[in-house]
Amino acid sequence: MINTDPKLYKEQEQLFKKVVEQAKVNITTCPDCGSIVLVDRTKDINTVTCPYCHVEDDYSMFADIFC
Ligand SMILES: [Zn+2]
Repeated sequence: MINTDPKLYKEQEQLFKKVVEQAKVNITTCPDCGSIVLVDRTKDINTVTCPYCHVEDDYSMFADIFC
């Protein structure tokens, strides 16, 4: 991260986790095109397909935005 204020970054991370836990939707990024891809956490998911560039990859390759 460029020029990140640690306190503000931590707050963003905590708010992110709050959203993900309450909505049960993970917010990830596509490993190919970098688009935001939402993933339903209530389902047992092994692979994810990006709706924008159609790349299909292991769920672990779709990093959540705070990884
Ligand atoms: Zn993509």
